[in-house]
Amino acid sequence: MPALIFATNNKNKVDEIRSVLDNRYEIISLKEAGILIEIPEPHQTLEENASEKSKTIFTLTGKDCFSEDTGLEVEALNGEPGVRSARYAGDESDFKKNIQKLLSNLGENSNRKACFKTIISLILDGKEYMFEGICDGTIINEERGTGGFGYDPVFIPNGDTRTFAEMSMDEKNKFSHRKKATAKLIEFLNNRYGKN
Ligand code: IMP
Repeated sequence: MPALIFATNNKNKVDEIRSVLDNRYEIISLKEAGILIEIPEPHQTLEENASEKSKTIFTLTGKDCFSEDTGLEVEALNGEPGVRSARYAGDESDFKKNIQKLLSNLGENSNRKACFKTIISLILDGKEYMFEGICDGTIINEERGTGGFGYDPVFIPNGDTRTFAEMSMDEKNKFSHRKKATAKLIEFLNNRYGKN
């Protein structure tokens, strides 16, 4: 089975990607690869950050790998928090504080449109490929649900009435930005490895 290192320390992301990869490819987390580093995300775009992460791991290991970078873009906040989604309320990734800051910045604004955007950077045989997934939805006024992570409790994807945090992982995958980007990654890998 082809193996890929997934350049993340976020266990939720590893679980979500494994759940859609259908055991066709072996996904090795950074921890499992024995790589105990935090990869910086210093850039102004999701694409540059995703690239930085996969290239860092490729330089360290020389192995096929991929990374992803995701941001929540809120229309009424001119696309914020965007590339700064993890550190919106400060340097530490604190989901509760990030949500509080988001809801406070949005206030009573009636435009609640937002989208999650995921960029995957794959390095296969030393060459980079990129895939994008977008999920449109709205931001509600208070947190609902206990599942998922990050901004899930305040985000309702278009086409449903529940927040991502009120859904099972399979239900979230029907809509999710990460699932859409991963589907493109899988299609690419299937073509490359002759799987259907
Ligand atoms: P990262 O930089 O790609 O790790 O993600 C940035 C931040 O976006 C995370 O810390 C989360 O707050 C948020 N985020 C990423 N993916 C999701 C998701 O699927 N649901 C909710 N929040 C997410």
